[in-house]
Amino acid sequence: MACKVLVHAEHEGGAVREVTYELLAMARKAASEAGWGEGAVKAVLLGQGLDRAAGEIAARGASEVIVMEGPALADYTGDAHHRGLEAVIKEEEPELVLFGHTPNGWDVAPLVAAGLDVPLATECSAITFENGRPLFTRKAFNGKFLQVLDLGDARPRVATVQKGATPAAGPGGQGSVRKVPSVVPEGAARARFVEIKKGVSGGVDLTQAPIIVAGGRGVGSAEKFSVVRDLAEALGGQVGASRPVTDMGWLPHEHQVGSSGVTVNPKLYIACGISGAIQHTVGMRGSGYVVAINKDADAPIFGVADVGVVGDLFEMVPALTKAVKEAKGQG
Ligand code: FAD
Repeated sequence: MACKVLVHAEHEGGAVREVTYELLAMARKAASEAGWGEGAVKAVLLGQGLDRAAGEIAARGASEVIVMEGPALADYTGDAHHRGLEAVIKEEEPELVLFGHTPNGWDVAPLVAAGLDVPLATECSAITFENGRPLFTRKAFNGKFLQVLDLGDARPRVATVQKGATPAAGPGGQGSVRKVPSVVPEGAARARFVEIKKGVSGGVDLTQAPIIVAGGRGVGSAEKFSVVRDLAEALGGQVGASRPVTDMGWLPHEHQVGSSGVTVNPKLYIACGISGAIQHTVGMRGSGYVVAINKDADAPIFGVADVGVVGDLFEMVPALTKAVKEAKGQG
């Protein structure tokens, strides 16, 4: 049975990337909103030696995982993968095709859309439906505005989706796995994979953090950030930041939340000394529960907070850290 939503499953050497499960969650939500019913969501997986990855994806919300394997697909190149993807899309004729807004996604999605001569919506945070038509929400002007796009009547509608826009799909259901022959013969691709060089980073991935304690300019200096770090550590969370913090070099850029940083949706987000500019809140307002600590009672951050504390962060945050440690029996 042809599907309605096809998700591009990403992996690294057979290890499924979390973004795949986020896309499956978004695809299932869209399918349910559109009333597309069972079997609407499939995933397409390209590479080599993918039995385990396919099984894992089939157990997390894909009714079928379509697997295309071959030496030309073993390591990712946009050139080879877009040809494989196009073949599967033409066979499945889905309404929607979703890619992660990731280095692979932003490379291959435009190739696929151009190859199929259909429009593409990039960096989307939501898909909604109006009179049965899918609408794609994305940031514009660095998050100052949200844009809602109707991609017209051409099918499929192709979109890349922000990391962290939806919590990842958990285990559930048992889809099937179907292998299809590779349409990319060895040596046919023009691009050749050479190697992956790992960048040097602190290994921070805020999009996957269940708890984030973020500090803003109100923290005052790199040294004083220990107050934020201590609370994050006590809670088992990660440290986030507003842009001035990373601009001033108090923390590396990977900690920045917002329109020019990452979009996060942790269960708990504690904002300390952050005013709540739109460019910041656009990146964290999907959080499950937001606590804001700011000495200015009129700070806009309180508008997106579930609990607001008007006060000095240097009194409030250490008190919270102490209380958490005591509650955990570490005090
Ligand atoms: P401020 O606005 O200076 O706020 C500091 C806050 O700390 C104030 O509310 C103050 O009351 C409070 N405070 C001070 N001392 C204390 C204390 N002791 N205790 C408690 N509270 C205290 N910003 C981002 O965050 N992320 C982005 O990705 C981003 N992208 C941008 C892209 C563009 C194109 C542009 C133009 C801007 C972008 N910005 C981004 C910047 C954004 O507009 C704001 O300037 C920024 O978010 C403000 O950071 P802040 O809240 O830390 O600082």
